[in-house]
Amino acid sequence: MPDTLTGSGVSRGLAAGPLLKLPAPAALPAPRPVTDPDAELATVAESLERVAADLTRRAGTAGLAREAAEILAALAMMAEDPVLREEAESGVHAGLDAAHALHQAFTRHREALAALGGYLAERAADLDDLRARAVACALGLPMPGIPAPGHPYVLVAADLSPADTATLGPDVLALVTERGGPTSHTAILARGRGLPAVVACAGVMALADGTVIGVDGGTGEITVGLTDDAADRLRARDRADRDRLAGGSGPGATADGHPVKLLLNVGSAKDLEPGAEGVGLFRTEFLFLDRRQAPAFEEQVAAYAEVFARAPSVVVRTLDAGTDKPLPFLGLPPEPNPALGVRGLRVDRVLPGVLDTQLDAIAEAARGSGADVLVMAPMVTTVEEAAGFARRARARGISRVGVMIEVPAAALRAERILAEVDFLSIGTNDLAQYAFAADRQHSALADLLDPSQPALLRLVEMCARAGLAAGKPVGVCGEAAGDPRLAPLLVGLGVTSLSMAPVCVPVVREALAGLTLAQCRDLAAAALA
Ligand code: PEP
Ligand code: MG
Repeated sequence: MPDTLTGSGVSRGLAAGPLLKLPAPAALPAPRPVTDPDAELATVAESLERVAADLTRRAGTAGLAREAAEILAALAMMAEDPVLREEAESGVHAGLDAAHALHQAFTRHREALAALGGYLAERAADLDDLRARAVACALGLPMPGIPAPGHPYVLVAADLSPADTATLGPDVLALVTERGGPTSHTAILARGRGLPAVVACAGVMALADGTVIGVDGGTGEITVGLTDDAADRLRARDRADRDRLAGGSGPGATADGHPVKLLLNVGSAKDLEPGAEGVGLFRTEFLFLDRRQAPAFEEQVAAYAEVFARAPSVVVRTLDAGTDKPLPFLGLPPEPNPALGVRGLRVDRVLPGVLDTQLDAIAEAARGSGADVLVMAPMVTTVEEAAGFARRARARGISRVGVMIEVPAAALRAERILAEVDFLSIGTNDLAQYAFAADRQHSALADLLDPSQPALLRLVEMCARAGLAAGKPVGVCGEAAGDPRLAPLLVGLGVTSLSMAPVCVPVVREALAGLTLAQCRDLAAAALA
């Protein structure tokens, strides 16, 4: 067994604990001839009871968000539904083994719910999850889904979806995945939760459950088979780092007092931290990742108002759906090249009502709040798109409108785009993906995505210069802004604000406070060269 494995550190922090792997859902084997129907009936009953008991226990986990606990409790009740059990039992009477009888019962139940439409149809997808759990029980396999062993552990997976990451319980100490890139949305969600995370870690799935590992979310190093003493030392180092960084406070500035706003990237009100200078990127699509029904106007107003009530200023990004952030409620068809397809603002071409409703909801929530509310569009490519978006937002009374610079074509036209909008926010994650033609989720291409490469810095510089000339702010809200090695470079290029996961603010504040603006400019010039 190797002593260390190395991946890409995507969310700083140190953790140590036993690992547990995310089990893959069981495939349904061919039906078995049934020789003892009573035994199959007992397996059906036992499987449903075990699923319900497991969900009830998860719902009671200390520290779980109220919504998550309610969802788990509702799922447990579904598993106990007597109609479902009778349906599975009649499958056994008709000659099916327990696993197939359960599979058939859940499938029929699901179809019936789906046919009813509306809220009940949305619950149909939950039955898929329950079916996978019940079938796994009947086959004597581990239950799929995020483990909940009742003690803290490091979650290891081949890959994790953003929806999995968003629903992790409080007993997860750290995340390690075999696949995934540093700017994947799973990495972003881990950072948002302050959870140490390492992606693209080859070989980690070969480790046995229960092995104690140390995770360094900064360097990407995984230490295998830690002794108790070594694990304690790692945890003590983590506490010391966090204590030192927590000592810093106040607005961001270089050593010689050049102000640089340090803003937060959030996905909902839960991510907000008191004392922040504001929100630089509110990723509204994170509110609706697993939704099957479009969120209603009123629901959107409430969700946005919750954020506006707790931050002095908020830059709201309109829905950015597509590639690794599918929004099932949009019902968009699969595409051969999703990253180059209908995503971000482009969804408006096929479903114009979605953006209109969202802008209405943002404007309504802003009117009732004391916050300074700005709005921006993701994945803008042309000057015309920027102008059209600004017109629609301003028509609703939103006075400050910007666009994200994520497509190289838009960076090249930054000067002209700034004639139409009030600010730019550079999304270095996508800008790197499109400038280097490298999928941001691809673990083998992480070096190509490195935003400190001169080509990307040149695009950032073009935008910053355009902002300076127009007297308009140009910020960075991609993950580069939260990297203490890169933040000074970006400031040296002329960027006026940095927006990042809340957990990154202390370390970036410390990095900027240690350098003068002239030193930041020297670093930027050297990196460009
Ligand atoms: C980006 O692309 O840099 C960005 C901030 O947007 P997202 O990561 O949500 O795509
Ligand atoms: Mg983006």
